Amino acid sequence: MTSGASHWRRATRLVRAGLNRSPNNETAEALYLNSGFVFNSAAEAEAAFKGENDVYMYSRYGNPTVSVFEERLAALEGAQMCRATSTGMAAIFSALACQLKSGDRVVAARELFGSCHHIVSKILPKWGVETEFVKGTDPAAWEAALSRPAKAVLLESPSNPMLDLVDVAAVADLAHAAGATLIVDNVFATPLYQSPLALGADVVVYSATKHIDGHGRCLGGAVLGSADWMNEHFIPFYRNTGPSMSPFNAWVMAKSLETLELRVDRMSATAAMVADWLSAHEKILQVRYPGRADHPQHGLAIRQMSGFGSLVTMEVAGGKDAAFAVLDALSVIDLSNNLGDAKSLACHPATTTHSKLPVEERMDCGITDGVIRISIGLEHPDDLTEDLAQALAATS
Ligand SMILES: *Cc1c(COP(=O)(O)O)cnc(C)c1O
Repeated sequence: MTSGASHWRRATRLVRAGLNRSPNNETAEALYLNSGFVFNSAAEAEAAFKGENDVYMYSRYGNPTVSVFEERLAALEGAQMCRATSTGMAAIFSALACQLKSGDRVVAARELFGSCHHIVSKILPKWGVETEFVKGTDPAAWEAALSRPAKAVLLESPSNPMLDLVDVAAVADLAHAAGATLIVDNVFATPLYQSPLALGADVVVYSATKHIDGHGRCLGGAVLGSADWMNEHFIPFYRNTGPSMSPFNAWVMAKSLETLELRVDRMSATAAMVADWLSAHEKILQVRYPGRADHPQHGLAIRQMSGFGSLVTMEVAGGKDAAFAVLDALSVIDLSNNLGDAKSLACHPATTTHSKLPVEERMDCGITDGVIRISIGLEHPDDLTEDLAQALAATS
């Protein structure tokens, strides 16, 4: 960690942690857009390949610009180590694959981001890994699934798109008793509002594409954990299979971290306002926002989160036709399956991100045809509620 980073407060870490100036003393982080590094001697190269020094060798293994982003995010998360990846999925897949072998067992919450669900339900079983999904909100289901040994547990909280929560501390205890590593996808909570490692998780994964970049520009991901776990499991897999982040993306991401708190606090304050406004609207059957007292797990939200995020999910009366009419009538809020952006974005999970789920499973998760997920951005809240008001008027 950069000198000072361990006692700096969060706002200071976000702008200064990981900063490693070159001899040119540039103010902002330098962009090292190169693939390889020169050794000063054959002996230095030999030592580098033996792991006896920590010089940069090749950007698939490590790059000074990528290191700035990794150190800054590790300082924010309170993690011993971080490795940045090309996408969020590269982070999640690598965090699983680096420690699994055929015959192992994985338990996952069924409320997972679509591609994570695909990895657990389709890819891992092909490789001889036994996988089991549990209803993430049901403590008894976790207890039953983890009464047998497992190697890894994967969950997401709050989940996409219904913003259901998993009790991270309770599942961490069960996972550890079953011999499993607990991996938490913390994208919706962001590093600001939930600290899975402090709740007992072993590994935290991010799609940095979302709030961390926050401007819809770069794909990226990150894996964070203890130095022991990272060195034993993750680093050898990462170095040899190549999911590394590009230095350019890391340079963008490191700058975006500087404003993460300002952006996400504002987006979340607006999300809370929009959720309250929607809940009073006659055409809305249901609003889901963990910060509202009517969220089914509001008590858990208060216990394990320090803020409630920028996503709001609502169910409009009138099913798919009404939902499509609202989406098509929006003029400020864009239609996109992305999230965490400065621009507000809306999507219809039933026909897009969750269209591949069997209908019964989708319904059981509460993703009805009237459900719309909104990622609240940085626009003025009144422009968003005015846009939603005129779009909801279009459904009559
Ligand atoms: C977007 C997202 C991912 C995947 O990240 P990419 O950067 O798109 O690969 C994984 N989990 C959650 C919760 C996400 O929102």
